[in-house]
Amino acid sequence: MEQILEDWLLHTNRRPKILIADDQPTNIRVLYELFSEQCDVFMATNGTQTLKICQDELPDLVLLDVVMDDIDGHEVCRRLKADPLTSTIPIIFITAQSQVADEVIALGLGAVDFIIKPINAIIVRARVQTHLTLKLQGDLLRANAFLDGLTGVGNRRRFDEDLLSSWRQCLRDKMPMSLILLDIDYFKRYNDRYGHQSGDSCLKRVAKALSESLRRPYDKVARYGGEEFACILPKTEREGAVGMAEAMLGRIRALGIEHLGSDVDRVVTTSLGVATLLPTLGNSPEALLAAADRQLYEAKRAGRAQVCAAREE
Ligand code: GH3
Ligand code: MG
Ligand code: MG
Repeated sequence: MEQILEDWLLHTNRRPKILIADDQPTNIRVLYELFSEQCDVFMATNGTQTLKICQDELPDLVLLDVVMDDIDGHEVCRRLKADPLTSTIPIIFITAQSQVADEVIALGLGAVDFIIKPINAIIVRARVQTHLTLKLQGDLLRANAFLDGLTGVGNRRRFDEDLLSSWRQCLRDKMPMSLILLDIDYFKRYNDRYGHQSGDSCLKRVAKALSESLRRPYDKVARYGGEEFACILPKTEREGAVGMAEAMLGRIRALGIEHLGSDVDRVVTTSLGVATLLPTLGNSPEALLAAADRQLYEAKRAGRAQVCAAREE
């Protein structure tokens, strides 16, 4: 177990989170004692609590009792697996129902393991260790698959997912959502003049400046294409988004990256398109993206090195 903790701290900077769900507090206590030294342990005594903690805390493993008062363990498992937010959380059933048929049901629901009560401490520890290791490996793989290899910000896949999930969140909360598209000016000439490697390093510095410009935890930046970046700003009005875009424009110019081939300045500059929409069932994230793209085109057309924002809606 010590090795597991070390791996988690090394790769994630935090301890693994385990949720123990059982309607008998005495059962919870036994399991708590087994893991509390190395893990952050959360506890639930019914299905509703279990689902709530999973949504709020995204535990790395759930030890799940089958028989609970309100929503039973099977139904909890079904719901966790159906929600993309919680579907990758490994679930181990811990149950007194020891028939083969019970195990078949549990595994069929997507549980990774099945442990029979009364529990044996060594067996439970060993299985929990295995699944925490697998969870860490899976998390690291998933994280990498969504990162842009050059700049370290989100890639296009991450952007597509974030755009959709932010859209849904703003739709639920009836809040506007903004999007900034940013494109480096005369970047082809930059590559031609300073070389492709300098071009790459310029992209990295721009990405870093953008990441540092974001202020809220749910603001996201991604590399949308070659020298184009996108910033998703949920719950942000047009005014706030324009302010962010102006700050980005200034910050990147202030990097002072020499660009003598540019027609607009002697340093690297960017053009930014901003759009804001109140998500409704009648419009779509694609409409927001298209609106931001039109504004980016407008910023280019109007002379580059500037922000253009949509007045449409
Ligand atoms: P504009 O001001 O209209 O945006 O002109 P531009 O030259 O920036 O636009 P264009 O789309 O013609 O060229 C984009 C250039 O970006 C071409 C391509 O070589 C360069 N580029 C795209 N991805 C990368 C990359 O990963 N590394 C480097 N170094 N260059 C890249
Ligand atoms: Mg460009
Ligand atoms: Mg471009």
